[in-house]
Order: sequence, then C-alpha cells, then structure tokens
Amino acid sequence: ELATALVALWFITFFVILVIRFFDYSRERAANNKKREELEKNLRALEIEKSEYEKSSKEDPLTGCLNRAGFSSVLMREQENLQKNDSPVSFVILDIDHFKHVNDTYGHMVGDEVLVNLAKLIQSKIRNTDALVRWGGEEFVILCGDTPIQNAQFLAEKLRMAIENTQLIKQQKITCSFGIAEMIVGEDPKRLFERADKALYASKENGRNRVTSATFRHTR
Ligand code: GH3
Ligand code: MG
Ligand code: MG
Repeated sequence: ELATALVALWFITFFVILVIRFFDYSRERAANNKKREELEKNLRALEIEKSEYEKSSKEDPLTGCLNRAGFSSVLMREQENLQKNDSPVSFVILDIDHFKHVNDTYGHMVGDEVLVNLAKLIQSKIRNTDALVRWGGEEFVILCGDTPIQNAQFLAEKLRMAIENTQLIKQQKITCSFGIAEMIVGEDPKRLFERADKALYASKENGRNRVTSATFRHTR
C-alpha cells in the first residue's frame, strides 16, 4: 500500500510539475511572440524611415525635383542605356533670365515661388522617364533618355514658350534660356555639362529667352 501510495504521489508530483512547466512555457512563448511582433514593427518603421531618408537625400527640398545626388543615379542608368543599346540621351540645361532682378524687386519669397511654379510647369510637360534636376540656384537640368538632340531641341522650345506664356507669378513675366547637348558614348559627364553650359551661355549672350544646341551632332 505504501509502495502504491508512493508511486501515486510520484505520478501526481510529476503531473503537477508538468502542468507548471507547460504554463511557464506558454507564458514564455506569448512573451516572446509579443517581443518578436514589437521588433518586427520597429523594423518596418525603420525600413520606411530609411527609404524616406534615401528619397529625401536625393530631392531638392524647395521644388521636390531631384538634386545632384539623385541625378547621378539617373545619369548612370542613361549612360548604360547609351552604351549597351545605343539609345540616345540628351541633356537640357535651363536658367531663369534676370532672376536676381525678381529677388531684388519682389523679395526672396516671391523668388522661391517662381522656382516652385517653374518646376511644376516643367514637370507637367516632360515624360515620366525624363529626370528634372535642380542643378543649383535658378538653374535646372533635364536628362532625357531615348531622345536625340533634335527631339530635345523641340522639347526645349516647347518649354521655353510655355514658360513665356504662363503667369508663374502675378508680378511679372518670367523667361528662361536653354542649352542642349547630346551625350557621346564614353564621354565624361563633366564634358557633356560643359558643352550644354556653353550653349546656354550663347543663349544668354544672344538676348536670352532662347534655345541653343551644342555644336557637336551625333551621327547615327
Ligand atoms: P541671367 O539672366 O544672366 O541668368 O541673370 P540672373 O540674374 O538670373 O543670374 P545671377 O546669377 O546674377 O543671379 C541669380 C540669382 O538667383 C541670385 C540668387 O540670389 C538667386 N537665387 C539662387 N538660389 C535661390 C533660391 O533658392 N531662392 C531664391 N529666391 N533666389 C535664389
Ligand atoms: Mg539666371
Ligand atoms: Mg544661373
């Protein structure tokens, strides 16, 4: 009887320990699940923050256009396209005419309004695949993939007229001067920029509110 009682006691003790262990384990599992969910939530928040940061580091805060950092990645993509697929790439640079006068006459805030409205106007007239970049100050660049210089010339003329005929601010008419160049295979981007900038300079010299193409023409 004693032996039976001892065995029964042993079984009961074993069972009680088993039940306690089971509850401990369940509690631990629930706590771990909660911790894991919290970590996953934090990770998702960090990923969103990271992609927002990456996006904003490539964006000009005033106009929402790409900045130069954003331009570099688009440029690499287009260089590759030209190299591999012989797909023409054009570079359009534009600069607001007499912008200093706008700032001096109406103030910096109105100047900023011009920049924002100009960027919006251009963005509405270019293709999704074209990249609009605020190059600095009142200078913008449009990188047009799959675009030979003749088409870029047509686009720039269209933009020039649209800017001239749009009331970007109520105070005065705004115009822009343009310089265009087509990318040459293997060309240093600095050189491409120089050629377009020289054409822009010629537009300024010849009276502003006009489009000039870089002299080199790609033969294909
Ligand atoms: P040009 O026709 O030869 O281009 O003359 P410009 O007056 O446009 O050129 P200039 O280089 O003499 O002046 C550029 C002006 O752009 C001066 C500067 O204060 C202004 N500017 C640059 N960045 C900003 C900006 O973010 N906001 C405002 N409001 N003005 C800016
Ligand atoms: Mg200017
Ligand atoms: Mg300028």
